[in-house]
Amino acid sequence: MRFDILTLFPAMFQGPLTESILKRAQQAGRIEFHLHDIRQWTTDRHRTADDTPYGGGAGMVMKAEPLAAAIRAVRATDDRPGVTILLTPDGELLTQQIVRELATLPRLLLVCGHYEGIDERVRETLIDRELSIGDYVLTGGELAAMVVVDAVARLVPGVIDSESIVEESHSDFLLEYPHYTRPAVWEGRAVPSVLLSGHHGEIARWRRAERLRRTLARRPDLLVRAAAAGVLSKADLTLLAELGWRPEASGSA
Ligand code: SAH
Repeated sequence: MRFDILTLFPAMFQGPLTESILKRAQQAGRIEFHLHDIRQWTTDRHRTADDTPYGGGAGMVMKAEPLAAAIRAVRATDDRPGVTILLTPDGELLTQQIVRELATLPRLLLVCGHYEGIDERVRETLIDRELSIGDYVLTGGELAAMVVVDAVARLVPGVIDSESIVEESHSDFLLEYPHYTRPAVWEGRAVPSVLLSGHHGEIARWRRAERLRRTLARRPDLLVRAAAAGVLSKADLTLLAELGWRPEASGSA
């Protein structure tokens, strides 16, 4: 899978893309990153990529011409069709479902805004999808693009052990069960004995129950979506009822 990142600050990506899992995935040829400095497509002597807003007001707006030229040029560097995504706080809220969808694509172009954002006409003509990473405002789209890259890349086949993806938080609306590693007793606190039993069936049941318990306690809204998606078994629903779950009191999906 190919990621193209269009930004005014390519140096911000040093680190996140050059360490740990993303580094190994690139070395293994599973994913490739191409950083593009939007300023490269400016045409004036001062390399101006932003200007004051029409109508007045605070801040600067990223100019249409260099950004549009950058998007068009970057698209043309590879035959693989790319989906062009703008990171923006008024975009669609990123979820694991969207991440999963994006991970099936051969190529993503991620456009990072800065200052007040980008000229609206570029959004209308060249952006395929707009994503927000949460209901808060960052100084630029770079950190948001890194979040998208990180979440999507780990689902590309071969990037991480596929077993770890099956039962993790948000994969099926349920949060994950708790994890423990050696030592078996730490500062007087023992690991739940079922995990030391070697009994796979019981361990699986215990983990499922913990996922349900944790989701009910922390994110009851997700249980409503899990039920609607049909991922709760009869046994799950029985346990949830025992734990006092009342779907109608859990908020809407
Ligand atoms: N004036 C804008 C905010 C600009 S923040 C508004 O009120 O909507 C500057 C840039 O940071 C944005 O163009 C966007 O690329 C990025 N950004 C800020 N918050 C973000 C978020 N929650 N998700 C994704 N990108 C975000």
